[in-house]
Formats: sequence, C-alpha cells, structure tokens
Amino acid sequence: MDFIQSQLNFIQQKLSWVQTEPLNWKLYVLSVSWTVCLIESYLSWRQYPNYSKKEPPEALKEHFEVEKFRKSQLYGKEKAKFGIFKGLVSQFLDSAILYYGVYAYLWQTAGDIITKYGYGTEYEILQSNVYMALLVGISSLTSIPFSVYSTFVIEERHGFNKTTPKTFVLDILKGWLVAFALGAPVLSTFLWIFKWAGDSFVPWLTAFLFTFQMLMVVLYPLVIQPLFNKLSPLQEGELRTRIEALASHMNFPLKHLYEIDGSKRSSHSNAYFYGLPWSKHIVIFDTLMKGSKPEEVEAVLAHELGHWYYMHPTKMMLISQFNVFSILALFPAFLHAPPVLRSFDFPPSVAANPPTIIAFSLFNMIVTPIEAVIGIFMNMLSRKFEWEADQFACELDEKLGVAEMSDMGDRLGRALTDLHVKNLSTVWVDWMYSAYHNSHPTLTERLKAIEIYQSAKTSRKGGKAKKEL
Ligand SMILES: [Zn+2]
Repeated sequence: MDFIQSQLNFIQQKLSWVQTEPLNWKLYVLSVSWTVCLIESYLSWRQYPNYSKKEPPEALKEHFEVEKFRKSQLYGKEKAKFGIFKGLVSQFLDSAILYYGVYAYLWQTAGDIITKYGYGTEYEILQSNVYMALLVGISSLTSIPFSVYSTFVIEERHGFNKTTPKTFVLDILKGWLVAFALGAPVLSTFLWIFKWAGDSFVPWLTAFLFTFQMLMVVLYPLVIQPLFNKLSPLQEGELRTRIEALASHMNFPLKHLYEIDGSKRSSHSNAYFYGLPWSKHIVIFDTLMKGSKPEEVEAVLAHELGHWYYMHPTKMMLISQFNVFSILALFPAFLHAPPVLRSFDFPPSVAANPPTIIAFSLFNMIVTPIEAVIGIFMNMLSRKFEWEADQFACELDEKLGVAEMSDMGDRLGRALTDLHVKNLSTVWVDWMYSAYHNSHPTLTERLKAIEIYQSAKTSRKGGKAKKEL
C-alpha cells in the first residue's frame, strides 16, 4: 500500500505543473477530438467501398444467396452513411459545447437552481447531481432523433425493427429512471470519497468502483433487466437437454437457463451468460432459437462457455480495473488546477476552488488520446479471446472425451454464418477499420480458423491412430 501511495505521489509531483501553467487546454481538447474525428473518417473512407462489392468472399459464397448478399451490402452501406453523418453532427455539437463554454454555463445554472430551493453553492454534491442531470438531459435531446431514425427508418426498412413507438418511449423513460436511481447515489458516493479521503482517494475510489461493478452483477438481472425484457425459463426439449448436458460435462455451475424476448425490440440475435462464480445464468435470445437448429445453438453456447472456461470476463474486468486505477492515478494533479478550469471558461471564483465533478469531467476529456489507444488494445485482446473461445468449442470433444461433440466446430461455423446472414452483417471489412472498431474477428477470419482447428484435430487423431497400430 505504501509503495503504491509513493508511486502515486511521484506521478502527482511530475504533473504538478498542471496546477500553475496556464495552458490552452480548450484548444488542446478541440484539436484532439478533431484528430480522432479525422482518423475515424479516414477509416470509414477505407471501409466504404466494401459495401459496393458485388460478391461475397470466396469462403462464404455457398452460404450467401445473391439476394441476401445484396441486402446485407445495402444495409451495411446505409448504416455506414448514417454513422458518418451522426459522427459529424456529434463532433460539431461537442465542439460548439466546448467552444461556447456550455459546461461553465450549466454549472452556473445548476447553482442557480439549488439556490432557488434554499441551498447554497456549499452543497457541492447536490449541485453536481443537478449539473449531471442537465448534461444527461441535453445529450438525450441530441441523441433521441438519431435513435428514432436508426430504429424506425433504417432497422425498419431492413426488416429488423420490432420496437413499437410505445416501447421506444417507455425504454427512454425507464432508462432515465434507472440512470437517476443508480446515478445519483453513485455520483454522490463518488464525490463524497474525494471529500473524505482527500488526495489519497485513488485506491478508495478504485475499490468503490469495483464493489459497485460486483453489486451490479447481482442487481442488474434482478432489478434492471426485468424493466426492459422478459426472461422466462427455457422450455423442456432438445435444446434444454443439450445445454444442460454441456454445462454438466464442463462443470459449469448452471443455475438458471432462460429465454429472453429479444424479439420484442429487434430480430438481431445472441446468447450470453452472467452471474457470480458459483451460480451462473445462461440467457438465449428467442430470435436465435427461432432461426437455428438446437445443435447449432449448442455450439454457440460451447463458444460462450469457452469464455467462461478461460475466465475471459474476469480477465477483462481486472484489466479494465487496472485501467481505471492508472487513469485515476493521473487525476490528483488535475483536482486542484485552476488554469484548467479557466481555460474552459469557468469564472475565477469557481476555478480557484474547482468542484470535483467539473475537474473530473475536464480531466476525462484531456485523457481522451490515452483512452483511444487503450481501446485499440482492448479490441485486440477481445479478439484474442474470441479466437480462444472458438478453438475451445472446436476441441471440446477432446477436452471432455465426448465423441458426439467432434463436429462442434462445423456446427459453430454454420451457426456463425447463419447469424451473420440473418443479421445482414457486413462480410467485407477493411482490416484497419476492423482493428479500430471491432471487438470480434470477421466471419471469414473465424471460419478460416475453425477450419484450421478442425483439421489439426483430424491430423492429431490420425497420428494417434498410427501410434496405436
Ligand atoms: Zn465470444
């Protein structure tokens, strides 16, 4: 603990210039965000011609009917155009918000609101909550039109949308309710820790965020998810039997097996598991079951359980926890940095004694480049995990000694292809675009790898047979 604290102090010392040096932080943040925007535009420009290709990759030709492929290209192109437009509008809006000092204005407004109700600006935590509510309100106002267009125009046109306007509005209201019910106490505790722990808040805050994540693992399925979706026990039948057998072969602590009404909103499909180490729940989208055979759904779950076997979610969480910790380690220097606030148009009276929430959100903008680089590494890692889970599914028969599972790789390949075709996912992906945006390898890459795993298995078997002779 002392060692960590001394390292933290060292970093803080190195960054102490932040507290005195009047740098043009606003210009810096604006240039960084435009640079990111340019890079993303370049990647889109690389990817865009792929939507005009007339034929699927060689490996997928037999799976794609001409018409399906044409549809997937159209869907991809439309989403890409929309994405570029949305990205540019958000970029201009964000820049305007920065340029015109909207953050400073909102902080002032939050102060005015609480003063009206008899609370002075010494109630910093209260003011911070009102400030965040204002920010969330503004960002919802700008994001709702995009989400309406995406759901009711694009998804609708391509036959995926199952959301009714009523569900859509209720989802937004419920989202706000959850954001408020969870956000206000979390934000208040977060800010209180700063006040309580002073400048040695880093380990405490990391511990708090970790506890909160653990709590959410338990609370989310119990309290939040039922607000949006209906989970019902998966009915008896071939699929249930298969999955239960798979789980027990693997010693997966399966507690509940659910089906979720994903089709209420969209016909995109999926499956996942969650829960505490000793009690796991598997959830399968009704849309996945409708379109795939039980043995293919089983293969999708074999892949998912591969993630569990290798503890991928735990590893991801530890890494992101480490990431949070190291980013937080840079923050103390920015916590009392009047020049930073002044550069974002905060009046000297506020800047002299920076409110924590303001210092923190400005700090977040300042570390954007670090986050972007970390994001690319996280994608790389996530892809590595996907390969591992695919390989796991392919070699399951060897691992468990169950001969009937020897075709699991082929089944997984069929299921992935089916999902891809049904979801009209893009099959032509530029490698650089994919490295930046995608957490999963492309379908072509995965099918190729599955083939390699399968044939390695066959040659291992051949070798064994020869030895036995
Ligand atoms: Zn996966």
